[in-house]
Amino acid sequence: MIDRQGARWRTAHRVRRLTTLAVTALLVVALAPYLATRFYRFGDATPFNGTHWFNPYAALDGPAEHWRKANFHAHSHAWGGVTDGHHSPADVTRAYRALGYDVAALSNYWAAARPMPTDTTTVSVYEHGASVIKAHRLVFRAPRTFWFDFPLWQSVHQQQTIIDRLRGDGAIVALAHPALRNAVRPADAARLSGYALFEVLNHFVTSDTAWDAALTAGRPVWLLANDDSHNVDGAGETGVAWTMLHAASLHADSVLAALTSGRAYGVRGHAGRSDLALERVLVRDDSLVIVHRGAAAHVRVIADSGRLVAAQRSTGTIVVALPPWAHYARVVLASETSALWLNPVVRWDGRALPLVLTTVDGRRTAAFRALAAIVVAAWLLGRRAGAARAPRPVPVTDRVGV
Ligand SMILES: [Zn+2]
Repeated sequence: MIDRQGARWRTAHRVRRLTTLAVTALLVVALAPYLATRFYRFGDATPFNGTHWFNPYAALDGPAEHWRKANFHAHSHAWGGVTDGHHSPADVTRAYRALGYDVAALSNYWAAARPMPTDTTTVSVYEHGASVIKAHRLVFRAPRTFWFDFPLWQSVHQQQTIIDRLRGDGAIVALAHPALRNAVRPADAARLSGYALFEVLNHFVTSDTAWDAALTAGRPVWLLANDDSHNVDGAGETGVAWTMLHAASLHADSVLAALTSGRAYGVRGHAGRSDLALERVLVRDDSLVIVHRGAAAHVRVIADSGRLVAAQRSTGTIVVALPPWAHYARVVLASETSALWLNPVVRWDGRALPLVLTTVDGRRTAAFRALAAIVVAAWLLGRRAGAARAPRPVPVTDRVGV
């Protein structure tokens, strides 16, 4: 009887120890990455300013064929099925080609093309991010896959840490579906910098509020529109959001140059089709002139903090006065079935767009790491002391005759 009790006690003790060990290991794996957090002094939120308007569409030269239809965010079957992707890479590319895409990039998780593609029309891009809050990035032209991430929450400091590490490798960084799970809150978007592109349209979510926050804070970041398709047969996730970019050729350099200089707009459509298309955007005497083709459109002009400046109907050409208080203005044209999301025109001095200076706060970073080291040391010492005090199972032989 007593022997059975002792055995039960020992089993319970062993289970407790194993559980503690497993929980400790999980905590260490989940929390240790946070020691790599850098703290930042973020660049000021200074609105775009200047007496001129920078118009990203001003330098469109060349024929209408220079508008290219592109998707940079789609997933195929990868990593033995651990990540969500229903079709083979070839099937995904084929499906997009069938819908008339000029650029159909695959952006599987953690899968930078290795080696860098020799085919110059292949745009190398992968999706970075494993956090539960879905703070993800699309990483263009990365020389290597960057594996590190903060797995649980990500404050604006952790997000900036990742952006800087990716950019440090020479990659071009886009924030993917920023509003998904509120991963990039508008307040964060007003502080982050160092990335070039903002995925405003994605089949999961539209992230215009956070984009307006970034633009209001004077961050010159351009729109990206993608399906983020995981299943090319799935209704509502393929051919529903894409980027039209104006590039002289389909060379990857030409395509990326168009994106990073804002010569692009986003489209919401169906099955890869839209009944609207943009032709030109001009700025004339503090007015915006938009020329489009296709169906009649409801036009909305949006400025600082997402404020609606004008809402009118257009059948081809529309002229809208830019208010004197506006530091940027962007346009959305919508028909019954489609919508075009344009990049903003922004105030500038006629020479260069603002360079936002965000610097590492070395003192705060070091203080955080020192504090973390003290907490870990105290915890380890506490555990050792606790283990010394804990009752141990009494050997069975000692209990004979009790
Ligand atoms: Zn994602």
